[in-house]
Amino acid sequence: MSLSEFELIQHCFAEQAAAYTHPDVRLGIGDDCAIIGPSSGQDLLLTVDTLVAGVHFPENLPPYQIAGRCLAVNLSDLAAMGAKPAWFTLALTLPEANETWLREFSRGLFALANSADISLVGGDTTRGPLSITIQVHGYVPAGRALRRDGAKPGDQVYVSGTLGDAGAGLKLCLAGNRENSDFLVRRFVSPTPRLALGQKLLEVASAAIDISDGLLADLGHILERSAVGAELQVDWLPLSDELCELVGQNEAQKLALSAGDDYELCFCVPVERAAKLELIAEQIGVTLSHIGVITEQAGLRLINEAGQPVTSAQMGYQHF
Ligand code: ADP
Ligand code: MG
Repeated sequence: MSLSEFELIQHCFAEQAAAYTHPDVRLGIGDDCAIIGPSSGQDLLLTVDTLVAGVHFPENLPPYQIAGRCLAVNLSDLAAMGAKPAWFTLALTLPEANETWLREFSRGLFALANSADISLVGGDTTRGPLSITIQVHGYVPAGRALRRDGAKPGDQVYVSGTLGDAGAGLKLCLAGNRENSDFLVRRFVSPTPRLALGQKLLEVASAAIDISDGLLADLGHILERSAVGAELQVDWLPLSDELCELVGQNEAQKLALSAGDDYELCFCVPVERAAKLELIAEQIGVTLSHIGVITEQAGLRLINEAGQPVTSAQMGYQHF
């Protein structure tokens, strides 16, 4: 890397990173390693995700949005386990060190990083096809993290926000129809990691996951890890007006079940804690929807308002 490129990286990342440093960071960007003095009494949670241009996001997505999305999907994993964000690293592979691109990327990155109180402590920059790897670390009080394996028969199943929006938004983006529905496109491009909700769920939830691959797939992970099943009411799935207007109720339900990228949380709560959960929803101002119940019988069953089974053929799927 040339000196001017190095200065550019310094400017776009090191200087911006200095604006917020987590108190446990002893040394941030600038040496061979970052140094962290982890707090005692806390478990440290970490996760890494790579986003490759043309695979995980459309090639022509503006850099501001690429950065935000890449950090958001990582923060969503912290949210799913109830963690409070602490610091992150960034490995960037770029076809060229384009100043305008890097400045916009940096702006998008720190807009979200600063709002989530997470500090950038290091990274790597290489030349190649555009790809972004972010590793995030966060804290949960020792032994308290929300996992996928704690769901029990009788627990109520909930999701945050609305489902299916990002799936429709991605289709609009790919078809070059970004202006068609601002809301749906935004739901794909800038997902909101449910950090405040995740941390509050530590008080009430028995299991949680973030919805990256679609409700059926992701709830399926909870069921498998917890060795339980579930019954879901398809009519209780939270759908946005924008989605229903664009694709109709039936298609909206299908997207809600199977489209990914919404990054809402799906979680289980024992019945006796339902009232406490309602208070939490009010406190943090996120809509939570009760969509079903965990069962002893394995597998995932869909039913309609009349209690009748909804078949996979009706929903247009081969298997759930
Ligand atoms: P080294 O060769 O020792 O790995 P580098 O020259 O790659 O060091 O990086 C110098 C410093 O800049 C390191 O502290 C590294 O963490 C940081 N850095 C490099 N690229 C990035 C990036 N994309 N984002 C954040 N920090 C970075
Ligand atoms: Mg080194």
